[in-house]
Amino acid sequence: MAEIIRSIRGMNDILPDVTPYWQAVESALKKVLTSYGYQEIRFPIVEKTELFCRSIGEVTDIVEKEMYTFADRNGDNLTLRPEGTAGCVRAAMQNGMLNQTQRLWYMGPMFRHERPQKGRYRQFHQVGVEAYGFNGPDIDAEMILMTARLWKTLGLKGASLQINSLGSTEARLAYRDVLVAYFEMHQDELDEDSQRRLHTNPLRILDSKNPAMQALNDAAPKLIDHLDDESRQEFAILCQILDQAGLVYEINPRLVRGLDYYGKTVFEWVTDQLGSQGTICAGGRYDGLVAQLGGKGATAIGFAIGLERLISLLEATDSLPETDAVDVYLVAVGEAAASQSLLLAEQLRDQLPDLKLITHCGGGSFKNQFKRADRSGARWTFILGDDEINKKVVGVKTMVTGEQETIAWNAIADYLQQ
Ligand code: ATP
Ligand code: MG
Repeated sequence: MAEIIRSIRGMNDILPDVTPYWQAVESALKKVLTSYGYQEIRFPIVEKTELFCRSIGEVTDIVEKEMYTFADRNGDNLTLRPEGTAGCVRAAMQNGMLNQTQRLWYMGPMFRHERPQKGRYRQFHQVGVEAYGFNGPDIDAEMILMTARLWKTLGLKGASLQINSLGSTEARLAYRDVLVAYFEMHQDELDEDSQRRLHTNPLRILDSKNPAMQALNDAAPKLIDHLDDESRQEFAILCQILDQAGLVYEINPRLVRGLDYYGKTVFEWVTDQLGSQGTICAGGRYDGLVAQLGGKGATAIGFAIGLERLISLLEATDSLPETDAVDVYLVAVGEAAASQSLLLAEQLRDQLPDLKLITHCGGGSFKNQFKRADRSGARWTFILGDDEINKKVVGVKTMVTGEQETIAWNAIADYLQQ
């Protein structure tokens, strides 16, 4: 026998026992985003590699080692999207959407060649949100308040908000020198990753997840103390709005984000309930990106939610959403009943469009069919045999009480509605 072909490591099947939770979470998120006036955009999963190199940055983890890159048949160098911001900006630019403000969201799979572990996969899913043409800090506050509302709507507990400002490009460059000088003084305490980043992407050292780097990072000079006036003022307004809205947050000076395009406001929602993969939502302002990609400058801010982590956190805190149960399982005993059950089911669906009804299909003994009905979790089991067909009735068993009754076909809809 041939060996079965298995999926690619880190790329998971999402099976029917959990898809109802995914659907419920996705539709709750969509509803909130729509209510704030954000519109859905869909763009390809594959883009030119250059788009990601130029936007995310050559010396980021993603571009250095995580991208799925391949040659197209015609020789083009393509990449499976590792995140959505670059493609979203590309689509908005290409379609002339940036001469007015935009509030956008998207949802779908992202691909990164990381070491698979809990909360870290090679295909994972994000809901991403981007706004273009707003200067902030009001839109920054809107986005953060909106994430808080997303959690409230989902009943999500256990996530806390961290914010920081990365300042203007100039302020960041000046701070970079201060930071490099500090780390150079402590060069022998840097781990391998940090050694490598010292002159390529020193800010990223602050984002290290290595506990051995913690003390050194904590004592490092803070970017928030080196901000330009404009960034400092905007950050103060943002904090003020969040305070007035009663949103609890922590200013985390080490929050620098891994992608090159961020400046000014950055934020993350983190939890301690998922081990080391604790960031469920991350984002910030990236005013420079459009110009960097050759467009006419447009301010921008966005965030992305990792859906696997979000759903894990809901599960860990016993807050998975309620999912729709089956209303009726229709058992049909005998050949005549098998076809009649389908017709009866169609009639009921016409009458009750929201009814969740499963017809048995495939025959089998009454006992076996009944077992399936039980397993389906249906509230009622309907039973149709020759006798019921002759009388144009159906046997109805209410599963929790065990109560049984007989109901005429034309009275079923009324019965179910009560
Ligand atoms: P991390 O620091 O955990 O690697 P990141 O900074 O690379 O995250 P972003 O690029 O900001 O992550 O992506 C936004 C969100 O997408 C993350 O906060 C996380 O919830 C989720 N995410 C990122 N990478 C993965 C992955 N490989 N598997 C599952 N979820 C992920
Ligand atoms: Mg990462």
